Amino acid sequence: MQPQTQTTFQSFGLRPTTMAALAKKGYKQPTPIQELAIPILLQGDDIIGQAQTGTGKTAAFGLPIVEDTRPGRVIQTLILAPTRELANQIVGELAWMAHGTPFKATAIYGGVGFGNQISSLRRGDLTCVVACPGRLLDLLQRREIDLRHVRHVVLDEADRMLDMGFIRDIEKIFQHLPRDRQTMLFSATMPPEVRKLAERYLRTPEFVRAESGPTATELTDQFEIKVQGDKFPVLLALMQKEDPVASVIFTKTKHGAKRLARRLAACGYKTDALQGNLSQNARDRVMAAFRDGSIEHLVATDVAARGLDVSGITHVVNYDFPMVNEDYVHRIGRTGRAGKRGRAFLFVEREEERDARAVERIAGVKLERYDVGPLPQVPAEASAGAQKPQLAHSRTPRGPPKPHRGGGNGRSGHGGGRSSQGRSYGSARPQGRRW
Ligand code: AMP
Repeated sequence: MQPQTQTTFQSFGLRPTTMAALAKKGYKQPTPIQELAIPILLQGDDIIGQAQTGTGKTAAFGLPIVEDTRPGRVIQTLILAPTRELANQIVGELAWMAHGTPFKATAIYGGVGFGNQISSLRRGDLTCVVACPGRLLDLLQRREIDLRHVRHVVLDEADRMLDMGFIRDIEKIFQHLPRDRQTMLFSATMPPEVRKLAERYLRTPEFVRAESGPTATELTDQFEIKVQGDKFPVLLALMQKEDPVASVIFTKTKHGAKRLARRLAACGYKTDALQGNLSQNARDRVMAAFRDGSIEHLVATDVAARGLDVSGITHVVNYDFPMVNEDYVHRIGRTGRAGKRGRAFLFVEREEERDARAVERIAGVKLERYDVGPLPQVPAEASAGAQKPQLAHSRTPRGPPKPHRGGGNGRSGHGGGRSSQGRSYGSARPQGRRW
């Protein structure tokens, strides 16, 4: 299905509260996935939406759900998401859409105590939960959550949930849901397992795919860099040549993320690692720092970075190959968002050549060869064997101050005031990053 006309939000017949929320948010026109999905969902039909993060899929399902939320103290909507970051992000998006309506959502995820989540469920004022499958199932088994009145179910990033091994949990959760419901499945890719899931739980769904309008993948210039041996000097050369305002650098393992962040910090970059071993508080701190710009380069594993929507990420570096080639598309979806061009780099070792070609097929692009130029000397404190960050006076290998990614003017104080942790917090930011 393709959108035929330049539709407006007005033409969907949305309530005045929703129109006011859209105007306040500054959304002028629906994105292609919204244009296709919203009318189907407002009619109450099931849907399979093939859409990457960055296409506006949250509002595509969120607006019709908010519109159809009735006053009453029962959970009417269940949204399943693969990670806590995505769950939190969806709750945040729904909150502005629902301003002035009875809709109220909370996020449910593991890795934190049960206490707060149980208290918010017991308060009984929620109409929606946005949940990671594992913790939701725990709460169902403890009889702390009642899903008997659910009328809307969303499976968001279904491909990712299946990759993460949530299929059994999802099957069990569906046993707790009423048969009479509207079910929506969104997924960046449509492998056979996702289709099977849709066949099983959706009722004569419409399939929509936002093909018009550039996707994050199309808005990103994509390059491959041949590497062999220690990749760190290549990364340094790349950072010096590209001088990214904000980047996400992907590693395969948690340990690899920590080590790489340490090495980059030792070279004067404002960086930290986002990986699954962090406590929820530590993750929140890292994310807040990345959002407000006190961290400029986030080293992340795939699971940790899934679903992040931080505007203004100029570069994505695939330092290690993803575990599954399909994740390449998710990774580069962190940049090239909201109509802004991004740049993505894939480090390719000789034995990964075949995977690089597979990635090209999956992403539907031809990766351009990129030459980083001469490799710089790696400072001793950033050498592969260095255990601890050495810091305060490490050199800053970058060029002049860059414009802030929020579109502001050049930053002042760039490179100033390094903390004893090797990160610089010296630059005053004119504005924070938007999620
Ligand atoms: P999503 O794919 O839901 O993660 O959304 C990607 C980004 O696009 C988010 O930052 C949204 O706030 C933004 N967005 C979604 N819909 C619209 C729209 N109709 N107009 C402008 N921005 C939008």
